Amino acid sequence: MSEPSTSSASAPEQMPPGVMEALLRPSGNRPASRTLESFSDGVTEVSVVDSDSQVNKYDLLCPRPGCGSIILRTGVGKLVEKPSVQMEPADCTPSLLAPMPEPPALTHWWLVAPSPMEFENIGFSKPLINDAGPQMKLLICAECDLGPVGWSEVGGTEFWLACSRVGYRA
Ligand SMILES: [Zn+2]
Repeated sequence: MSEPSTSSASAPEQMPPGVMEALLRPSGNRPASRTLESFSDGVTEVSVVDSDSQVNKYDLLCPRPGCGSIILRTGVGKLVEKPSVQMEPADCTPSLLAPMPEPPALTHWWLVAPSPMEFENIGFSKPLINDAGPQMKLLICAECDLGPVGWSEVGGTEFWLACSRVGYRA
């Protein structure tokens, strides 16, 4: 492999790997975020073993390009596989968020407990009207209101972030 000379590196196909991504990254001090989908090994790649559980290996961010508000710091969320939850009407998934599998199919969540103080930044919706079970609140970005990225029971001590709906500062 020979070193390309600087004078011949102007064509886009000769750009070293990573340069385009760096150019496309939003400017300013907002961290770049990756989606869960972009990791080939999915949740195993974004989690790390911490004593008896698996926790988030990276800071979790709002997935909206240009927002990137930090939702949860590394190591605070516990990886749990449990049934999916329909957080919005099935036919209107917000365009920036991954669709959830149809309950009761299993999916991965970051469990945050025991209080919202564990979050770096988080917003809550009004309680949803739900005749079938306990009242539920939706978790949204505290800065841009993008959501739902997760849910909690009203008055509960467990807060569930969908692994597929947050960005990862990797
Ligand atoms: Zn946001």
